[in-house]
Amino acid sequence: MIAPGSTIGIIGGGQLGRMLAMAAARLGYRTIILEPQKDCPAAQVANEQIVAAYDDPNALEQLAELSDVITYEFENVPVDSAEMLNESIGVFPPPEALKVSQDRVTEKRFLNMAGIQTAPWRIVENEGDLEAALLAFEGKGILKTRRFGYDGKGQVRFSGKKGESAKAGFAAIGSVPSILEGLVDFTREISVIAARDETGNIRIYDIAENVHKDGILATSTVPASVSSTIAGLAADSARKLLEALNYVGVLGMEFFVLANGTLLANEFAPRVHNSGHWTEAACAVSQFEQHIRAVAGLPLGDTRRHSDCIMENLIGDDIEKLPAILAENGAVLHLYGKAEARAGRKMGHVTRITKRL
Ligand code: AMP
Repeated sequence: MIAPGSTIGIIGGGQLGRMLAMAAARLGYRTIILEPQKDCPAAQVANEQIVAAYDDPNALEQLAELSDVITYEFENVPVDSAEMLNESIGVFPPPEALKVSQDRVTEKRFLNMAGIQTAPWRIVENEGDLEAALLAFEGKGILKTRRFGYDGKGQVRFSGKKGESAKAGFAAIGSVPSILEGLVDFTREISVIAARDETGNIRIYDIAENVHKDGILATSTVPASVSSTIAGLAADSARKLLEALNYVGVLGMEFFVLANGTLLANEFAPRVHNSGHWTEAACAVSQFEQHIRAVAGLPLGDTRRHSDCIMENLIGDDIEKLPAILAENGAVLHLYGKAEARAGRKMGHVTRITKRL
């Protein structure tokens, strides 16, 4: 166990790092952030920041020296950095989880091998591959870059209409290694936030129902309006994945629910997840505290919710709703300390308690 008073190193300085640092502070830990951007959201609430690139060897050495354990807040942390750190200090979640999730092909393969169903998919290295894959999926699918896609970026949709061409689609994605997924006609999107500790204990939060706008999460509603069978299937998938990865920490997993009750995994993130922000307002132990508990080797906490709720992301000029939100009863507001409200930028979130249980 890493005792309270010790230092937790966090790679990445965004809002997830900020909320992890705040949860760590509440449990008596110190935090140090590795992030190239000065005065980033996480560093504003942490004890220290190393201002350097995520793959700067001197910075990594310094981070290892100053920390008692290391975690990360985004999935594009260079795997080499995580593996290098892991030689001298505990890095959780395991670097293997980063490696698997950074490439949509290894991710889908891993999910399928763990017995978790996904949309059908094909590797696309060139226009010819895309043409063949589109033919196999009756012209419908979503082309996604294998790496570095997030919030719907790096995606091209094929709806099976005339005029859509593999050539233009592959060019639009930047002619980079990609994957074509079959277009899923889902009725809803759900996600599960799950945690595993070093000894293999697993705790799972209630399922959230998510609505995306322009590829970015807009709201998460809990409880999700799905049957207990679907909820159970999602929890089982998360359990399988945590075990297959020998995971330590919190993980977020997104799914599509089909009209016939089939559940397909879309992707997972080896970190705390936007669709789990509601836990800070509706559970005794938030996903952030849970993650800190897991990486520090403390017992996992209670995941039961005490309230139904809806989390809404505040994106770009949504921030102008601030006076109205501040006047609301039952609204738990969280802002990320970002100075400039650019379009598509996550500025904060608000969780509205809809019913106390
Ligand atoms: P992703 O970046 O993979 O999370 O995708 C962003 C959003 O695009 C998802 O939350 C869905 O709303 C939509 N989407 C992604 N993949 C598919 C798919 N195979 N079929 C239908 N919609 C999808």
